[in-house]
Formats: sequence, C-alpha cells, structure tokens
Amino acid sequence: MRVEMKQVIVATNNAHKLSEIETALDFPGWEFAPLSTLEAYPEPEEDGETFEDNARIKARAAFEHGGRATVADDSGLVVDALDGAPGVHSSRYAGTHGDDEANNAKLLEELAGVPDERRTARFVSVLVFIDEDGSETVARGTVEGRIGHELHGKGGFGYDPLFLPDEFGGEKTMAEVPMSEKNRISHRGNALRELRRKLESGL
Ligand code: IMP
Repeated sequence: MRVEMKQVIVATNNAHKLSEIETALDFPGWEFAPLSTLEAYPEPEEDGETFEDNARIKARAAFEHGGRATVADDSGLVVDALDGAPGVHSSRYAGTHGDDEANNAKLLEELAGVPDERRTARFVSVLVFIDEDGSETVARGTVEGRIGHELHGKGGFGYDPLFLPDEFGGEKTMAEVPMSEKNRISHRGNALRELRRKLESGL
C-alpha cells in the first residue's frame, strides 16, 4: 500500500514542543516541519485573551505563510492564588519572553508565604490544527498540581522544576521525570491525545 505524504508545519520555535507534537501525532505519512522551514515572516502578536485565541493567531499566521496544514499550541500555567496568573502571559511573566529562570523566580516571590494547600495550579494547553483546506480542529488538555517552594530537576522547560503534579503524589516535579513520563500526564500530552482522537475520527 502506498502511503500519501502529508507535510504539517508546527508553528513553534520551541524544540521541546516540536518533539512532543511529532511523537504524539505519528500518523503514517505525516511529516512535521518546524517554522524555520518557512520563509521568515514577522511574528504575529499574541494579544489574545485566551490560550485558544493565541494558538489560533499562531496557527493562522503560519498557515497563511506556508500554505500547508499547520498545528500550533498555546500553553501556560494557571495559579489559583494569583487569580489565574501567569496564564496567557506565562512565557513573559518576568518581562523577557522565554526567560524561564526569571519567570520561576518571580513565581516564587509572588507565592512567598502562601501555604501548600493554597498553591494549587494547572498547566493548560490548547492546540489548533488547520488542515490544507483551512478547516480547524481544536483540542485542550490540562494537568493539575501545586507549586513547590524550590526548584527541583533538570528536565523539561519553563515552570517544570516548580510544578508538582498531583499524579506524582506531590513528591516529584515535572522536571524530575523522563520526557515519556511527562508526556503521559502532561497538559500537552492530554491535548495531543484529544487532537489525535478527533483527527482519527475524521480521517
Ligand atoms: P507559549 O510558547 O506562548 O505557549 O508559552 C508557553 C509558556 O508557558 C512557556 O514559556 C512556559 O513558561 C509555560 N509552559 C508551557 N508548557 C509548559 C510545560 O510543559 N512545562 C513548563 N512550562 C510550560
């Protein structure tokens, strides 16, 4: 049987996200290409109020420039004691886009003195997939946990060293487990499994 090739642009510059997406959507014939394979274009402003708005802004921009199927993720950390912050501002919480160290330091500062039972939080991921014909499929995933008092672990990225998933009994951070273990429980893993189910039922 001949499998038709399909190229899908992954609208991210984050290598972690690219490999998580590639691993989860391993449909026969699907090939993922990073944003860097498109001719450079100005980054769209992620000024949406929700994760879904921002995922759509990224996906539409790459779709319009690439003319091929595209998938984008927007994700972040929602902390209850901070009224949902950093939320859609997760990557630039401390001011500079993607400065994980400064973001983690700011989070610890904002939560200073907040007791364990009020340090509940969740990671959220929303994926927007746009097919060649412009049709959209949206999927969402979360993972519940708490924010620790100090950084633990070297794996993952972003807030992983501070995030204690409930599924690990509050004893290990997301940065202390192998990537396969993170993908099994993570917000993006859950969103990708939902996207996979939705695409399979429409394939
Ligand atoms: P985005 O690239 O605009 O979606 O921003 C996502 C930001 O949310 C990242 O820079 C991280 O700070 C945070 N984030 C999203 N997913 C994760 C994750 O899996 N682990 C840790 N931090 C994450």
